[in-house]
Amino acid sequence: MAYPIKTCRLCEEEFELKPGKPGFADCCPACSTAEPSAPTEKRSMDATERKNRSEANEARRQAMRDLLYRKDS
Ligand SMILES: [Zn+2]
Repeated sequence: MAYPIKTCRLCEEEFELKPGKPGFADCCPACSTAEPSAPTEKRSMDATERKNRSEANEARRQAMRDLLYRKDS
């Protein structure tokens, strides 16, 4: 079974997109392992994303609870 051939968005080299490849799907393995972006910026972005996601989950839970209570009464 052949893997899809992708073009790396960083070095524009063609590579096989294998399952379990680390990093982004549009980066070749070499560019995925040698991450050029600032790690501190990435970490803070991840923290913000996590916070946003937990807030979204909380809002969804609240909405679900409201829906259930309305249905019961
Ligand atoms: Zn690359």
